[in-house]
Amino acid sequence: MTRLAYVNGRYLPHARAMVHVEDRGYQFADGVYEVMPVHRGGLAEEGPHLDRLDYSLGQLRIAWPVARPVLALILRELVQKNGVENGLVYLQVTRGVAPRDHRFPVAAASSLVITTKRLKPLSPALIADGVPVVTIPDIRWRRCDIKTVSLLPNVLGKQHAVEAGAYEAWQVDGEGMVTEGTSTNAWIVTAEDTVITRAADHAILNGVTRAAILDIIQREGYRLVERPFAVAEARTAREAFLTSTTADLLPVVRIDGAPVADGKPGPLSRKLREAYFHHAAAAA
Ligand code: PMP
Repeated sequence: MTRLAYVNGRYLPHARAMVHVEDRGYQFADGVYEVMPVHRGGLAEEGPHLDRLDYSLGQLRIAWPVARPVLALILRELVQKNGVENGLVYLQVTRGVAPRDHRFPVAAASSLVITTKRLKPLSPALIADGVPVVTIPDIRWRRCDIKTVSLLPNVLGKQHAVEAGAYEAWQVDGEGMVTEGTSTNAWIVTAEDTVITRAADHAILNGVTRAAILDIIQREGYRLVERPFAVAEARTAREAFLTSTTADLLPVVRIDGAPVADGKPGPLSRKLREAYFHHAAAAA
């Protein structure tokens, strides 16, 4: 089966799927994206992902490339054509193709690119042992709530983590507070068993997984406070974890080389992970 990509109205072999050199996504990173999970052949959390796409497009005043119900159909069609059972769909919308000029083009149609990827389940070792993170300064702009394709600081941060032998880099703002990972949201659990995560302000991406975990926490009656936390507080936390569409929920067991509590995944992280797994399966 030839793997296909969707590019502006056409299904093309993935290897030959291309956009124009003057696409503003390529020239200016003038575009947004979404990554949506596929579980057992079905799109999970489609509503929240398309809502966030709508938000990102609206904030940047980029027009929807096709109507939302049409996009939903194309997403399904590509997943089906590529025979994806478990994996993800990547979709990107840019302000379109126009002669290079910073100002918005007067007449350019938004570009739409969609690809799919098959994924194996997460390594059981990651879940059982947890993952290390390192901390780095957050050098991003002040609108991290918009899911833009402008990801250079995130790319540099992730590479730093990889070279430091860590799974993720937690970014730290000017006040010493953790904002989020380079592609994940950050959480801790205090000695009083209160779950802490930063409120969805302009400093973080409001993760769809984050929102699902917040729902679970509220439903199950765990204590929760949405507020920033410092690196020092995270180091002395009872538990820490990270969340994202691709990582689900992974326990964080070391921060900058120092163990979180006894350096093993904590019970609340495990419970939330299991509850999230059921939620994601039901959402597909
Ligand atoms: N923060 C950043 C910076 C991200 O790139 C992502 C992944 N897109 C997340 C958080 C997690 O978001 P989600 O749960 O929607 O995948």
